[in-house]
Amino acid sequence: MANSYPVIIAGAGPVGCHLALYLASRDVPVLLLEKEPDLPVDLRASTFHPPSLEMIADLGFGVIEDMLAQGLVADRYQYRDRRTNEVANFDMSLIAGDTRYPFRLQLEQYEFTRLVVDRLAKLSCAEVRFGSEVTGFEQSAEGVTVNVHSSAGTQLISGGFLVSTEGARSTIRKQAGIDYLGFTYDEKFLVVSTSFPFEDVFDDLSWVNYVSDPDEWCVILRTEKLWRVLIPTTPETAADEARLLSDEFIQERLHHLWNKDGDYEIGHRTLYNVNQRVAETYFTGRVILAGDACHINNPLGGMGMNGGLHDANNLGAKLVRIVQNGEAHQPLLEQYNRQRRDLAVHFVQEHTIANKKLMEARDIDTQKARQKMLMETSTDPVKAREFLLERAMINCVRESEAVA
Ligand SMILES: Cc1cc2nc3c(=O)[nH]c(=O)nc-3n(C[C@H](O)[C@H](O)[C@H](O)COP(=O)(O)OP(=O)(O)OC[C@H]3O[C@@H](n4cnc5c(N)ncnc54)[C@H](O)[C@@H]3O)c2cc1C
Repeated sequence: MANSYPVIIAGAGPVGCHLALYLASRDVPVLLLEKEPDLPVDLRASTFHPPSLEMIADLGFGVIEDMLAQGLVADRYQYRDRRTNEVANFDMSLIAGDTRYPFRLQLEQYEFTRLVVDRLAKLSCAEVRFGSEVTGFEQSAEGVTVNVHSSAGTQLISGGFLVSTEGARSTIRKQAGIDYLGFTYDEKFLVVSTSFPFEDVFDDLSWVNYVSDPDEWCVILRTEKLWRVLIPTTPETAADEARLLSDEFIQERLHHLWNKDGDYEIGHRTLYNVNQRVAETYFTGRVILAGDACHINNPLGGMGMNGGLHDANNLGAKLVRIVQNGEAHQPLLEQYNRQRRDLAVHFVQEHTIANKKLMEARDIDTQKARQKMLMETSTDPVKAREFLLERAMINCVRESEAVA
């Protein structure tokens, strides 16, 4: 392959990988650059929503089949109130007429990137380079020149478009002078995995649970490997990371959830900052942002990576038109910005902020009203379907596609 590419992508997270396979599968030559020596393995997204599964299925190459074989199908999810022991159970078969995949697939995001990179390696118009960090760029009306740092030194690579899928700390976004508007919460989220079988001690436990409690809410999710518990911390303790990550603190929080005999076996533990931010624009000239590089939100509801996959699909279709049909890029990228950015501001940010407020409310009246609303919604098939269409991101993809 010549040292010039129609599309250069920086960052082999789920969004960069999805976009690379989308383009390569339509014969658009693509270079995917990843700064790490291998695909990162971290405890982040574990839920794939129905529209993302459809988009991945449409990529072909058997990726969806492998994901379904590896992952756990969560065909219902629950909101549990530990004060009253009420469980609002949302049955996803209610949206069977709305999607080919009426469930959430529980699978670690790094399993998805592994499957995609495996396919990219076999395609002649895709090249993936690890240990290759994008450190800067220049652009003109005709194209981009990208500085890539690797163990071989710094190289200049030219291309038609540069897409940053570098995640929230995107160097390219910063260098392009694009503001990341929004805020960071004062508290952090602790994510812990354990092999303890919660399904044996909680009655009728589904694979995805939002648990409210008079003292401390949490989310319990089963991935294909382990149970994972997401626990909020307080702003006052956020600076004391050593304590929050200590065995003592984690054992105390897990015993608060279920007071078992002896210690829990702990797999991974990670502390995350929680942000709500959207970039002021998703492109400037020939430099484009997608995924966490241009929007980030708290993980309640699992909309971050999913929204990023929807960006990649939307952008991929436009880049194919630009590169293969010679269509003008400016109007199509403006449309990408309208379709994806407005949605991130109005749908994803609003939903995730509301989800967090609802979960963390501590006064009894708000907790009672919340559970009553969830119980009533889950038992009314019409309301439950509407609720699921929103939470499964089906409505937001439909709305985004309808934007001119
Ligand atoms: C605890 C937690 C749980 C979550 N759960 C969910 C969930 O269930 N569902 C969901 O939808 N979302 C979830 N999210 C959010 C999700 O993890 C992110 O939205 C997702 O990882 C974003 O993907 P991305 O590809 O945009 O960026 P990333 O996954 O951050 O990938 C960026 C990649 O770019 C590379 N990179 C960075 N800079 C450069 C550079 N200059 N040059 C080359 N490479 C570079 C990085 O090494 C990395 O591989 C969760 C997040 C957290 C913290």
